[in-house]
Amino acid sequence: MSFFSTRGGAAVTASQAILYGLAPDGGLYVPAMFPPISLKKIGELADMNYRQRACAILKTYLEDFTIPEIEAALSAAYDERKFDDPAIAPMKKIEDDTWVLELFHGPTLAFKDMALQLLPHLTTLSAKKNGEEREVSILVATSGDTGKAALEGFKDVKGTSCTVFYPSDGVSDVQKLQMTTTGGDNTHVIGIQGNFDDAQTGVKNLFASAAFNAQVNAKGKVLSSANSINFGRLVPQIVYYFSAYADLLQAGAIALGDPVNFVVPTGNFGNILAAYYARNMGLPVGKLICASNRNNVLTDFFRSGVYDTRRTFFKTTSPSMDILLSSNLERLLYECADRDGELVATWMKQLKECYTYAIGEQRQEWMRDVFDAGYCDDMQCAQEIRARFETDHYLMDTHTAVASHVLKEYREKTGDMTTAVIVSTASPYKFAQDVLSAVEGKEAVNGLDAFECSDMLEKVTGVKVPQQVRELRKLPVRHKQQCGKDKMAEAVMEAFAK
Ligand SMILES: *Cc1c(COP(=O)(O)O)cnc(C)c1O
Repeated sequence: MSFFSTRGGAAVTASQAILYGLAPDGGLYVPAMFPPISLKKIGELADMNYRQRACAILKTYLEDFTIPEIEAALSAAYDERKFDDPAIAPMKKIEDDTWVLELFHGPTLAFKDMALQLLPHLTTLSAKKNGEEREVSILVATSGDTGKAALEGFKDVKGTSCTVFYPSDGVSDVQKLQMTTTGGDNTHVIGIQGNFDDAQTGVKNLFASAAFNAQVNAKGKVLSSANSINFGRLVPQIVYYFSAYADLLQAGAIALGDPVNFVVPTGNFGNILAAYYARNMGLPVGKLICASNRNNVLTDFFRSGVYDTRRTFFKTTSPSMDILLSSNLERLLYECADRDGELVATWMKQLKECYTYAIGEQRQEWMRDVFDAGYCDDMQCAQEIRARFETDHYLMDTHTAVASHVLKEYREKTGDMTTAVIVSTASPYKFAQDVLSAVEGKEAVNGLDAFECSDMLEKVTGVKVPQQVRELRKLPVRHKQQCGKDKMAEAVMEAFAK
């Protein structure tokens, strides 16, 4: 399988797409085609474990990797000592025709682990295959969860380093501590004075800067990305949509071929794009429902066909979705434009220069055929956490609750009661303050720090505090570097010099 740039650039192999992250023309790598998975094959997945399901999907894209290489990477990544549930991505039924796909059982308690536990293995294999002897220096911009997941994935992996930029005031206390206490000799964590979009744009600019790349190369290093713009992040995420479907089959909740709706709490559009790829490979999907918080640029896009970032940026209780520039949408635009890289490049240029673009009526119809979209504010999110806990005895985090709210609205609006899967992206304990406040009322969290809130949440709900949160209290802060949003290049070189 070869990979093209969304902006029309030349073809590369899977390992090259993974190794270099972003195409030289600034576009994202996309597969030349969507490898079909037959219904029969999907039926067979039901009897397989997660690693076997993953192998069946990955091998269709990673053609320049051998099956034993893929299997070894999968064994190392989805290890039962790293995931606290043997199913890796378990499904929980919370009401009739409504399931939750729990993607937070990895080491950092967010769904980013599903990809970032695997990516370092794919990266080092890709380096070897391409004769790359320089250190692969991963640069990451994070809204909170990617950073820690990347640090955990890459820490002490030979031949790599991992540098993370996070918005100093834009992440939860637990998220910040998770990052700044990270061990490993090859990890760097830098707070920037700006929001996530500043961090993401800054990192993109570093990748695109010839001068900066030359500086890095002179140190015997080559840049790569662990953000969801990297195809190596996307491909492990396709797996769990097939896995969820296989679990529904196994539970007898659906018959082979029945459509399933997925509702996905969305920020950078990586997770839901993986669902779209799964659909294009043959997974029976009804609707993909894109759920946003108050930063509802995507809701407006799906409703109007106009992407417009000229709006206020809100800090919400679902910070991993506080994003106005959804990078992975570019991959959907590429399909929507019938793989016309020039047209995508035009839209991206308009976005950069005028902060907006419009895709036109016909393409909007094309989008609506598969996607629906909705959003909710922090108050509705808190109400949803409380309602789900009281009615269904299920405790969800703030991101998952946004999706849950949007699903209810979607069902009311359309009457579409197709079996639905709410994609759960984080443990409630990653956002314990807001979850406790939702369940017990605002007064309950007064004067409590994140850890005290966790203890209280456990007491009130009976849901156990994960080991990772318990351990966090004892770890020393190791990373204190900060920088201005226009000083990121200097900050990386400073970190490399340490
Ligand atoms: C990253 C993240 C999201 C958004 O996922 P995208 O792939 O960026 O759309 C949602 N919830 C949580 C908890 C996350 O960490």
